[in-house]
Amino acid sequence: MKKLGKRASPLDIYALLDKSNCKDCGYDTCMAFATDLLERKIGLADCTHLNQDPKQAKKLAKLKELTMPPQRPVVIGVGDRKCTVGGEEVLMRHQLTYYNPTGIFIEVPDDMGMELDDTVKYLNDVKIERMGDILRINGIALRCVSGSADTFKAAAKKITGMSNLPIMLCSLNADNLLAAAGEIKDNKPLLYAATKDNWEKVGSFAAQNNLAVAATSSNLDELASLSASLKKMGVKEIILDPGTYFGPGNLAATYDNIMKLRTSAIENDDVNAGWPVMGVPAAYWSQVNIDGDKDLWKHQYQEVIMGAIMVSIDTSLLILHTGQKKDEIWALMALLTLGQSIFADPRIYPAVDPGCYKIGEPGDMSPIFVTSNYRMTKIPVEQDLQGANIDCWLLVVDSEGIGIESAVAGGQFNATAISEAASEFKAFDNVKHRILILPGMAARLSGALEDEANCYVVVGPRDSSGIPKFVEDLWTPEKYMKEFNERGD
Ligand code: SF4
Repeated sequence: MKKLGKRASPLDIYALLDKSNCKDCGYDTCMAFATDLLERKIGLADCTHLNQDPKQAKKLAKLKELTMPPQRPVVIGVGDRKCTVGGEEVLMRHQLTYYNPTGIFIEVPDDMGMELDDTVKYLNDVKIERMGDILRINGIALRCVSGSADTFKAAAKKITGMSNLPIMLCSLNADNLLAAAGEIKDNKPLLYAATKDNWEKVGSFAAQNNLAVAATSSNLDELASLSASLKKMGVKEIILDPGTYFGPGNLAATYDNIMKLRTSAIENDDVNAGWPVMGVPAAYWSQVNIDGDKDLWKHQYQEVIMGAIMVSIDTSLLILHTGQKKDEIWALMALLTLGQSIFADPRIYPAVDPGCYKIGEPGDMSPIFVTSNYRMTKIPVEQDLQGANIDCWLLVVDSEGIGIESAVAGGQFNATAISEAASEFKAFDNVKHRILILPGMAARLSGALEDEANCYVVVGPRDSSGIPKFVEDLWTPEKYMKEFNERGD
């Protein structure tokens, strides 16, 4: 079995670059380009020399091979919401980082009739804002429930006309699948699925039209064989579905199969396993006896737990049933929030830019709140201020991305740093007072800060949720300034 290479170093990449340091790519040196190429901040297409000089074709091919992760990435859809799944280099996030979060696709049947419009509009627009990120679903899994190629085709066409969300076309009937795929092939749908019975037909269409294919089998040897056969016939992007099974013993088997595929790709360099792996928590609904709407929430809960397990083990893509309706937003909140945490880059400190941020329409005597540049501090404070409609300034101090309590203890959040930030970002130029409101957890810096910044310090609440009450009860800037001026007399 062919082995893929281990992670390249910047020097390995540099050795194959032009080394002219021409700067066409926007980098001063080819070495800087090599470093960011390895971090996937740019692509090989950004080097003009490699792409325009025919003599460099061999080096370009070698670089493509060198930078290809052991689990190849697959792109579904086109435009600004196209979704990249897989492409990972490590089994555990702490070994490096994960690059592409689990793609969350919501199942939609093709026989919804008039309801399809509202459902697609909702899925297209639904978003959750959390810690400064906008979390959204990644695609629609359109299922051919009708059994009719015409209905499936029409639904696919309607969705692409209403939304730029990527589409996965789901039917094990190759004729129906390819009828719809032909209708929307320019939108680069993912074809689900190639099986041992239909792979030649599905694979040949996908190869001709440069579409990605999901292959499915609960037998991992058979799945590897399908993967190899599809690749051999020219399919360039494959996703592996080892099946999602509920019931005694099946949960462990489902988990194991996903991990076996990921391990084969990443640790054992098995090229047939070297593709994104998907799971289908929505399969719950066809495997369990469901008595109408009785205990509906319990069933939804089971499906979402499976989704959470899959996100937690870096499954590349999920199909969910729950989450399709507005009152099921809790399912999306849970999975998208989990994904946001798991797929954060552990090498990057969660910091925001220091500065003096304007909130609302502050006036001459509006308060200036001080906080750290730890992302999980700055954003909630900002949201609390915005949510309470408090017109003010938020002075964000560089605490090296550390939260206030730890940064006060560690010395990163200190009177000098706050004073320098107030000066650098001209905090007092915005108002006609010299008052800073320190977070309660930094109360002990008050005296030193008053001296360093020549200001009056008020100690605010320990938690930003207490700010509205603090402003209502204690924000008396004229009184504070009177005291401040009397001190100076
Ligand atoms: S465009 Fe290519 S050759 Fe020029 S500096 Fe960038 S990497 Fe080097």
